[in-house]
Amino acid sequence: MEYKKNDLVTVTITDMGHDGEGIGKIDGYTLFVKDTVIGDTAEVKIMKSKKNYAYARLMRLITPSDRRTDPICPYARQCGGCQIQELKYGEQLRFKEEKIRESLTRIGGFADIPMEPIIGMENPYHYRNKAQFPVGTDRNGNLITGFYAGRTHTIINNTRCYLGVEKNEEVLQRVLGYMRENHVSAYNETTGKGLVRHILIRCGFKTKEWMVCLVINGRSLPAADRLVESLRQMDGMTSITYSVNMERTNVIMGKETGLLWGKPYITDYIGDIRYQISPLSFFQVNPVQTEKLYATALEFAGLTGEETVWDLYCGIGTISLFLAQKAKMVYGVEIVPQAIEDARRNAEINGITNAQFFVGRAEEVLPEKYEKEGVHADVIVVDPPRKGCDETLIRTMVKMRPERIVYVSCDPATLARDLKKICEEGYEVRRVRGADMFPGTVHVETVALLTLDVV
Ligand code: SAH
Repeated sequence: MEYKKNDLVTVTITDMGHDGEGIGKIDGYTLFVKDTVIGDTAEVKIMKSKKNYAYARLMRLITPSDRRTDPICPYARQCGGCQIQELKYGEQLRFKEEKIRESLTRIGGFADIPMEPIIGMENPYHYRNKAQFPVGTDRNGNLITGFYAGRTHTIINNTRCYLGVEKNEEVLQRVLGYMRENHVSAYNETTGKGLVRHILIRCGFKTKEWMVCLVINGRSLPAADRLVESLRQMDGMTSITYSVNMERTNVIMGKETGLLWGKPYITDYIGDIRYQISPLSFFQVNPVQTEKLYATALEFAGLTGEETVWDLYCGIGTISLFLAQKAKMVYGVEIVPQAIEDARRNAEINGITNAQFFVGRAEEVLPEKYEKEGVHADVIVVDPPRKGCDETLIRTMVKMRPERIVYVSCDPATLARDLKKICEEGYEVRRVRGADMFPGTVHVETVALLTLDVV
């Protein structure tokens, strides 16, 4: 049976896809239904149909699944930020574990996967230390800020995001108040006119230091002293800056930052290590879980103090400095030069002298160091972006024959692909553990340990 657009059908959801969409079958015909979860029976409307499957919209829940919960956020369904807030938190964790297991089985071809229980959060809300709110106007020309609706750039007027810190709301009210009182305009993506594009807020969870950065389509902010005056009244306000972005682009931050008040950076800790964070620095957004993720990576690395470790895709050296506490020497490689500057400074402010950093592509730096200088590694840690590791890099890694490889991944699919390649060269997957860095969303981090398969 083939359905056509606008048909109403009743379906029971029996599976969920990697993007959190419910999947149900009617006589072998597959329906993908956003906003439904396993166990729901629902009336849905066909939106787009193909020969063997269709995308449908949830119209009415007939029998809600017992895995469901009422989302805490009234905008959960429209907002592009969260995808699975309607799943009970324990079920979200189960979904993420399944996502890892399914990828390793289907893409990696692994049979017995040594999976350990996923690391969840005690409180899965207010975990983000960073938020970027777009600024715009509603139909009546009123200033609004909030988040983009799923797959669009329509701003949902909402200053209360449950993933961010509660005080973000006060920052937003103060910025909007300043804009209204001083007739500062919001940027309009369609016309390319207007001034304020985004409000970036960062907060040090341990230090309680706050940073506010306004991304502007211009070189200066009118009546900036008024903005400073208002924001300074907040406890912990440490850094007020602006970022110049005059390009017609989806990239949020501009390249040039100007200081309005305070310091150009804030400070925060992961474990005992202190980090300086400026508006452009990459810093993990969930500090509570990051500590647990790195502790897992450190445990998997099995360091005794004698090892030479390579940390590839090291960013600002977060994992490298964590590992340096237990290793003889750590070498970090990262493609973004500013991140390496941050890494070197972070090593320095923590008095860490056994870490050295190189700028470049991991797949170029490591082969060169190995082939020309014959460098050695006891442990290699990789933490690549979603696309995973480059082929050349994997070939060099396995040639170097480190005792252990620790793979930190933000995408189970590319993780599975890469683990398969590494295992073809004599390594074996010993431990796999998920960590939930982003409750409410479908994202999951995984740490895997591979060791040489000695016979
Ligand atoms: N380990 C760090 C950052 C991981 S994010 C942390 O936990 O904070 C992945 C990093 O890989 C980013 O900083 C990105 O800039 C970097 N990167 C992307 N492609 C790269 C490549 N080919 N070689 C080296 N680094 C790369």
